[in-house]
Amino acid sequence: MIYKRSSTLFKSAKKVIPGGVNSPVRAFKAVGGTPIFIKKAKGAYLYDMDGNSFIDFISSWGPMILGHAFEPVIDAVKSRAERGTSYGIPTELETQIAELAVKMVPNIDKIRMVNSGTEACMSAIRLARGYTKREKIIKFSGCYHGHSDAFLIQAGSGAVTFGAPNSPGVTLATAKDTLLADYNDLDSVNYHFEQHPEQIAAIIVEPVAGNMGCIPPQFGFLHGLRSLCDKHQTLLIFDEVMTGFRLAKGGAQESLGVNADLITYGKVLGGGLPVGAFAGRTEIMNQLAPEGPVYQAGTLSGNPIAMAAGFAMLTYLNENPEVFDRLAKKTRLIAQGMTDLLDKKSIPYQINRYGSMMSLHFTDEAVVDFKTASLGNNNNFKEYFHGMLNRGIYLPPSAFESYFLNDALSEKDIDFTLSAFDNWLNNK
Ligand SMILES: *Cc1c(COP(=O)(O)O)cnc(C)c1O
Repeated sequence: MIYKRSSTLFKSAKKVIPGGVNSPVRAFKAVGGTPIFIKKAKGAYLYDMDGNSFIDFISSWGPMILGHAFEPVIDAVKSRAERGTSYGIPTELETQIAELAVKMVPNIDKIRMVNSGTEACMSAIRLARGYTKREKIIKFSGCYHGHSDAFLIQAGSGAVTFGAPNSPGVTLATAKDTLLADYNDLDSVNYHFEQHPEQIAAIIVEPVAGNMGCIPPQFGFLHGLRSLCDKHQTLLIFDEVMTGFRLAKGGAQESLGVNADLITYGKVLGGGLPVGAFAGRTEIMNQLAPEGPVYQAGTLSGNPIAMAAGFAMLTYLNENPEVFDRLAKKTRLIAQGMTDLLDKKSIPYQINRYGSMMSLHFTDEAVVDFKTASLGNNNNFKEYFHGMLNRGIYLPPSAFESYFLNDALSEKDIDFTLSAFDNWLNNK
């Protein structure tokens, strides 16, 4: 394939936008090469500026669960835009989408809308701290909760007592309140409770991790977190920015049968517009301004166009819940097909999958946490990524990202993807 126009556009972009992109993973740094620039998208397909088309396996990193330019969402956006794009004054639509979300998710009474997943997680942590009157939080290595300071922390040289910032600009004072644990390892969580009795406000976790590839929780892990939180009067926060309205109507809480105290949303909820949200039971949510003392606000929060898109999206999912099983089945087909092809070769690999999320890691060892996810062979991954791209398949341009399938993907697209994969394997 030829990427001439994209390459020219990337050069221009780099002159006026840091790294040429507005979010780092888009720049292809992990895989090399030039990012493609998109002209339009429809259903399961992306069309770039050079006239190439691709089957899309990232679905805008999750939101486009029903495929691109899904008509009910597009119609809702168009008709709402004609009535004005923002007022900063309440609309009926905000209550309608909140009512629908509260109905779809079994365990929430109230929900507050924000503009991104980052904002949702940042606000949920503030609320948890305000509610418990404690300062520390536990997060897991390799879990991503947006780019606010408290979450940009990783273990410093094997130290597990407290994390070191992994971005300049995050202060040590912030880092000392974020305790790091290992995903799927309850002992590493318990350790912090022993070290910091009555100081931990919340545990925040991706109930199915999707930011170090896809890593499902092992049996007992989430239930174990629930018990530890109950025992220590700590809030359990499920970051369902990825899994919410994707794994089931009620997200991971429903799919995995564990209730959290606060839940954050984003991605699917906005139907492709910038929306995030956090939700929980009344007693906790009423601590938020203007009802309670914990401050949180937003000029464009609950924006009418974004709410119209999200409402159209949730309405469809609520009325057609078979989407979730259908997506899981498509994901299973891809995973099984790839497994069969890989088993004929002598390439070490792991395929992780949960619902409509999956990832392929080029390693022999089971990928269960950040450490094992990091063992993947990145050269193989680069070749794989570009091999598939050149055959018309758009995969996440990093081994640490999950694939997100969308419902527009047909059986024919799946067959095409598997034969592209077979072809790549045979020419490797
Ligand atoms: C994408 C993501 C976020 C951040 O959401 P943004 O809208 O990009 O700010 C937070 N948590 C998880 C689990 C995510 O996947």
